[in-house]
Amino acid sequence: MGVMAQKIKIESIKSLSGNDIHAPLRRLTAQGLDIIFPPQSLWPNLDGTFKRQINFIDKPLCEACGFPFQYDLGDGALCGNCSIKHPAYDRARAAFIYDDISREPILSLKHSGKTHGLAVFAQQLRRAGRDLITAADILIPVPLHPKRLRARRFNQAALLARSLSRLTNIPYDTAALTRIKSTPTQGGKTASARRRNMQGAFQVVNAHIGIIEKKNLILIDDVMTTGATAQACARALKRAGALRVDVLTLARVVKDMSLDENYVDTIL
Ligand SMILES: [Zn+2]
Repeated sequence: MGVMAQKIKIESIKSLSGNDIHAPLRRLTAQGLDIIFPPQSLWPNLDGTFKRQINFIDKPLCEACGFPFQYDLGDGALCGNCSIKHPAYDRARAAFIYDDISREPILSLKHSGKTHGLAVFAQQLRRAGRDLITAADILIPVPLHPKRLRARRFNQAALLARSLSRLTNIPYDTAALTRIKSTPTQGGKTASARRRNMQGAFQVVNAHIGIIEKKNLILIDDVMTTGATAQACARALKRAGALRVDVLTLARVVKDMSLDENYVDTIL
């Protein structure tokens, strides 16, 4: 299946099918309009970025890491990597592919705190995470190191968790998990370097252990690249007694990086 994972064509997952919330978009696309997602009224400043169709992720995908498959391999099918070694988290899902189309609004949220797209982002998280949300007790945003939080003044993952919480009524806890290691930026690092970089980077705050113990958690972040951050968070939460740790991100990189250790990304 590893080979199959490599052969996935991104074009194949552009389909908008299977989601009621996309019905109007499908209709517009069919009419040949240069449809922009999300609708302009909801995301007024991003028209230029979304002139092309965004690459949504939907089933079929790896039950564990959420890597999209070109063909339906049946319920519970795993990609090559996950069948060799299951990630430290239980399931990961993402709303769309991190690419030239989705990069700008995501970076705009991350670096300038432009929150006008949050409502749409939250709807997309709810769509992509619908299987996770049904059993979830608490949303946990991936924390920034306090130093970085002071510099940036907001955590984009916390903004996403709050918006999704409003939409789903699942409570969110921004203080359960802390980043105890100020890791240098992950951009330009290979998958294995990212893993080393992230070891022991997160810790559950003692006062919150009772809150997350035996609970189903969803870790929220903007982008999943190699999954190193998500895995480090999941390990910390599980060590503290969490029953299940799922991961829900706006976007994910769709590239089998474990098969290509020289892969160097420059995106985050
Ligand atoms: Zn997988």
